[in-house]
Amino acid sequence: MSAMTTAPFWGPDFFELEQEDPEIAGILLSELERARSGLQLIASENFTSPAVLAALGSTLSNKYAEGYPGRRYYGGCAEVDKAEIIGIERATALFGAEHANLQPHSGASANLAAYGAFVAPGETVLAMSLPHGGHLTHGSRVNFSGRWFDIASYGVTKDTELIDYDQVRDQALAHRPKMIIAGATAYPRLIDFAAFRTIADEVGAILMVDAAHFIGLVAGKAIPSPVPYADVVCFTTHKVLRGPRGGMILCKAEHAKAIDKAVFPMMQGGPLMHAVAAKAVALKEAATPGYQRYAANVIANAQALAAGLAAEGMRPVSGGTDTHLALLDLQSLGVTGTEAEQRCDAAAITLNKNAIPYDPQPPMVASGIRVGTPSVTTQGMEPADMKEVASLIGRAVTQPSSAAAVAAEVSTLVARHPAYERP
Ligand SMILES: *Cc1c(COP(=O)(O)O)cnc(C)c1O
Repeated sequence: MSAMTTAPFWGPDFFELEQEDPEIAGILLSELERARSGLQLIASENFTSPAVLAALGSTLSNKYAEGYPGRRYYGGCAEVDKAEIIGIERATALFGAEHANLQPHSGASANLAAYGAFVAPGETVLAMSLPHGGHLTHGSRVNFSGRWFDIASYGVTKDTELIDYDQVRDQALAHRPKMIIAGATAYPRLIDFAAFRTIADEVGAILMVDAAHFIGLVAGKAIPSPVPYADVVCFTTHKVLRGPRGGMILCKAEHAKAIDKAVFPMMQGGPLMHAVAAKAVALKEAATPGYQRYAANVIANAQALAAGLAAEGMRPVSGGTDTHLALLDLQSLGVTGTEAEQRCDAAAITLNKNAIPYDPQPPMVASGIRVGTPSVTTQGMEPADMKEVASLIGRAVTQPSSAAAVAAEVSTLVARHPAYERP
């Protein structure tokens, strides 16, 4: 089919799109070009496989399937039932979980369902504060979590920049939360799930682990799993895990009914069955030795990148990383996070500004940047490449006039490790 020669990763229908809507087809092509011609260091992004993209671009998108396999509100669900059952079986096997729900549309939707299952509006939740690395759904005033729930928070200590477990316990004892959330969006270190479990038990709270960022490292057996400790584990499927954009929930059997009801009908309508099928594909990929090597390499690359950036004068928050991401404090360079993000962007390096703990700058300015290695590792880059990446970032950030020269070197580097092979 001719379409296969123009865009092998988008399935046979890309030719149809080019014919019918060249404007949108052109954007799809130029976005692919943008992604593979620069360095993608956003810690929450990755490059999904052609198989995952094929499932996403399938007619399963057409099917209404409110409910769960064998208990649907619509007819014609025999085929999508099979896909969801396979996905659930793969998830419980991969993570050693008692129950899995693959329907959350996103990480935020998964978290919303966990709140719905365990907490009533006005009740108290203890979660990591946003300025110290927590997520919007952990109690931000502009989010449902902060508007509908009474939020108490904990953070990291000023000296170690590690989670202050004494403060977690003190806050739990003081506020008696219904639910405690462990997990963050900008925390480079391992989390002590056993410590959180002990604290949750002491105050009779549900322990929810928001594993959105690091669940792929758990799937690849590169870091310890929260599953044995948590009542419920919520996560996204599109970060290190390298699946389609979406969410997933794992929980103990005793919470299965509450979680399923909270996802549907409490918080969502019909599931995105093309995304559910794509999640099943990603889970199969994540169960392979190749993915386990990938997960270990993601961490080795992040550690090499953090060390390289330290040599460029950027201070790794907490001294380094155990995961796929690093947070760098740029204060000694006299450059803000916003400036660094813009200067890197001009040099074809995509990363984000990020507040650091106890940041003197407002969040829109920020004193730091966050970098992650899921995407570059999928491209096949190794720790030696991270040295080069660190020096390119260093030049882009400290010598804005060299942006074009850096971009040219970025182009050479990524050409050695193509994100998606050109046809
Ligand atoms: C990314 C993330 C989410 C939200 O995921 P979306 O799919 O963007 O809704 C939730 N929690 C944490 C900790 C995250 O990092």
